[in-house]
Amino acid sequence: MTDPAASESLAPESLAAVFRRLIANTGPISLMHYMGEANARYYASRDPLGSAGDFVTAPEISQMFGELIGLWLADMWNNAGRPVPVHYVELGPGRGTLASDALRVMQRFGLEPQIHLVETSPALQSLQMANLPQAQWHHDLSTVPQDGPILLVANEFLDALPVRQLVKTAHGWRERMVVPEGERLICIAGDRPMDAAVPEARREAEPGTLIETCPGAATVIDEVAARLVRQGGAALFIDYGYDTVRYGSTLQAVRAHQKVDPFVDPGEADLTALVDFATLAPIAMARGCRWLGTAAQGPWLQALGIDARAAALAKAAPDQTEAIEAARHRLISDEQMGTLFKVMGLAAPNWPGGAGF
Ligand code: SAH
Repeated sequence: MTDPAASESLAPESLAAVFRRLIANTGPISLMHYMGEANARYYASRDPLGSAGDFVTAPEISQMFGELIGLWLADMWNNAGRPVPVHYVELGPGRGTLASDALRVMQRFGLEPQIHLVETSPALQSLQMANLPQAQWHHDLSTVPQDGPILLVANEFLDALPVRQLVKTAHGWRERMVVPEGERLICIAGDRPMDAAVPEARREAEPGTLIETCPGAATVIDEVAARLVRQGGAALFIDYGYDTVRYGSTLQAVRAHQKVDPFVDPGEADLTALVDFATLAPIAMARGCRWLGTAAQGPWLQALGIDARAAALAKAAPDQTEAIEAARHRLISDEQMGTLFKVMGLAAPNWPGGAGF
C-alpha cells in the first residue's frame, strides 16, 4: 500500500527550504552558518570521494601519499626516542585510505600506535570501520586520550570548516549574510558592526575590502598545539591554501568534479575555502608549539623520496608504470597539486625537526 502524500512527507526537506524557512522566521543567517550546515548535510549522507563522487583527494590518487606521511611520522617518532603509548590521530579521514597506507609503513618501523579517527559523518565512519576495524572514533578532539604523544594528520579537513566573510562598508566592518532574492539565495552585508571580528592589523581598509577568517580552523590548531606541548608529538596539516595575506572570497562548491554555484542546492555540493596557513602558524607558536614550516606539497613529497618510491613500485609492477608516473605527476607538478597544496608541520617543543621543511 503506498500513500504518495505519506512518502512525500518522509523525504527529508531540502536544506534550501530549511534555510528559507529559518531566514523568514529569524532573519538572515551568516555565510559561516550556511557553510557549516551545508557541509554537515553534505558529508553525513555520502562518500564524496573518487571518480564516481564529487572530488578526488591525494590519498585516493596513490598509496605513495599515505606511505610517505607514515614514513615522516615514523621518522619523527624514532628520533624522539620511540615513546609508548603513542596515538595516531586523523581528522576527517575520508575512506581511511591515508591511515591504512601510513600505518602499514609505520609498522615496518616498529611503530604500532593506537588509532583515533575524528569523524562526524556516519556514512564515512562506516567506510572507515571496514578499512580500520581496530580504530576508535571521536566526534571531536576532546575525547582523544591525553596519555602519550600524538601523531596527527589532517588532509583536506580544514578547508571544509566554515569561513566567516567580513566586508568593509562605509559604516565599518560587516559580516556577509545569506538571504533569499526571489528563487535564489544571495550574500549581503549584515547590519551588525563586526569590527571586533577583524584581526586588528587588517582593520584599516578601503570600503569593499573582503576578508575571510576561519574560527573553526583556528580552534583546531590551537587545541592540537596545546596537546603537542602537553603530550608531545607531531602534526601535519595538508590543504589547498596560502601562506601570505590575501583578500577576497575563496569559497567554492564542487559537485561531480565541476565548480558549481555555492548558493544553489546547499548540502548537495562540497563547500570549501582556501586555508590561511599564514594565520594558523602563529596560533600554534603562541601555544609554545614548534612550527616546522609550511612547504609546498610537491617539493615536500620529493624531499621524502616520492621519486624513489614510484620507481620501486613500477619495478614491482611494470604493467602499472604509466599509472604510477601519472599519479606521481599529479601529486607533485606545479600545474596540479604540487604548488597549490601546502603541508604545515608542527611538533612538540622538545621533539626533533621534520624531514622536508
Ligand atoms: N582526508 C580525507 C577526506 C577529506 S574530505 C582524504 O584526504 O581523502 C573531508 C573529511 O572531513 C571527511 O571525512 C568529512 O566527513 C570530514 N569532516 C568535515 N567536517 C568535519 C567536522 N566538522 N568534524 C569532523 N570531520 C569533518
